Amino acid sequence: MNIDSIQNGIVLDHIKAGKSLQIYQDLHLDKLNCSVAIIKNVKSQKMGRKDIVKIDQDININLDVLGYIDPDVSVNIIKDGKLVEKKKIELPEKLVGIKKCTNPRCITSTEQGITHIFKLTDRENRIYRCIYCDASK
Ligand SMILES: [Zn+2]
Repeated sequence: MNIDSIQNGIVLDHIKAGKSLQIYQDLHLDKLNCSVAIIKNVKSQKMGRKDIVKIDQDININLDVLGYIDPDVSVNIIKDGKLVEKKKIELPEKLVGIKKCTNPRCITSTEQGITHIFKLTDRENRIYRCIYCDASK
């Protein structure tokens, strides 16, 4: 794939340098059949260094996962070689089934089949708490 010219797909830009591999794994981009390019340590005027991920297919991205990893990423949707949409993402209010509570006394640890849910309690410090036991993540 020519990484400069995606015809139909998604470009994740302004990723904090070094975060692209985590995004690749947590969004399960390895499961895709299309080309995915990870470009690391790109020079950026705004950020110094940044990572970029290019996905050569218009897929549904879990924006909650992405927002949790790095809320400053910009999501660019490319159609017919043109930028048609720029999505702004932010820290999700809730993480459903994304992070596991590690408190051994939490009901999610002692009982099977309970969905792990965290709620954002402090946006500034990016603190999430388990809705069952209040443990922070
Ligand atoms: Zn818990």
